Amino acid sequence: MIVVMEMRATSEQIEAVKSYLTEKGFGIHLSQGEERTIMGIIGNDAQKANLNLENFEGVDKVVPILTPYKLAGRQMHERNTIVKIGDVSFGGDELQVMAGPCAVESREQILEVAEMVKAGGAKIMRGGAFKPRTSPYSFQGLEEQGLKYLAEAREKTGLLIISEVVDPRSVAMMAEYVDILQIGARNMQNFALLREISHYKKPVLLKRGLSATIEEWIMAAEYLLAGGNEDVILCERGIRTFETYTRNTLDISAVPIMKTLTHLPVVVDPSHGTGKWRLVNPMAKASLAAGADGLIIEVHPNPKEALSDGPQSLTPENFTLLMQELNVLAGAMNKRLF
Ligand code: PEP
Ligand code: MN
Repeated sequence: MIVVMEMRATSEQIEAVKSYLTEKGFGIHLSQGEERTIMGIIGNDAQKANLNLENFEGVDKVVPILTPYKLAGRQMHERNTIVKIGDVSFGGDELQVMAGPCAVESREQILEVAEMVKAGGAKIMRGGAFKPRTSPYSFQGLEEQGLKYLAEAREKTGLLIISEVVDPRSVAMMAEYVDILQIGARNMQNFALLREISHYKKPVLLKRGLSATIEEWIMAAEYLLAGGNEDVILCERGIRTFETYTRNTLDISAVPIMKTLTHLPVVVDPSHGTGKWRLVNPMAKASLAAGADGLIIEVHPNPKEALSDGPQSLTPENFTLLMQELNVLAGAMNKRLF
């Protein structure tokens, strides 16, 4: 339930409602807007608890939250969440592009690609050090050594780093190296992982599960928010449908849907979304046109030699070209890319 305070409610009146709810054992999510204060009551039984909130001075109305997601939804949090990492931000009028190889393959590869994506205009570099591969015989990643290479690239270029975490036991270690923790599609409903990451003050990119509905995806974000991590960025990366021409079916409609239902930034991964590098450019544009706050794109210095996802990786030249085109689009959308 949500308690909407009157415009002129005093801080004493707000405090009185807060202590009443705390005494009853409910958690409170306070949203202090410019005009009025809104209090979300956290706990499943609020509806049944016979709370006499309307009798309190300063309370305008009490409304039920109709969705199963309380913290991720717009109802309790009208304004967009802006996730800030240093001077980079997601969800405001800046667009962010995270670019880099699917996997960290070697020190040389990472240092080379870092310079290239930076030259293209990206501020964040991606690179998987722990790879959740479909086959146990495929390259599994360089693990902590890969993170060390990413950290060195950050040191040299000033790029921020995003990398995927696949195991609750390695969250603490990964959080030492990366600026954004990536939760992969295969782990969207790994609740132990979500719970662990929810206790960190570290931005997190939550990819949509391979076959996850919109509601399942928002509920996964809810786990992160409920545990205390508010810096959640959502990532549409394509879902499984009957179509096999593309690796996945990129659900562009998820962008405006998630922007409407939640207050969280939404980015798109056109690389995994299509599996084909030729489709990355048009789908990247479509994503921004649909209102995405950014993109995550695979770029490899030599896609033919890539240890994973070469067919969907852009060459650095094609990445730079794409960034220039996106910059024109950004202007038309009243957003900033560079
Ligand atoms: C990735 O970004 O490298 C990745 C494995 O993506 P997804 O989890 O979306 O498949
Ligand atoms: Mn990949």
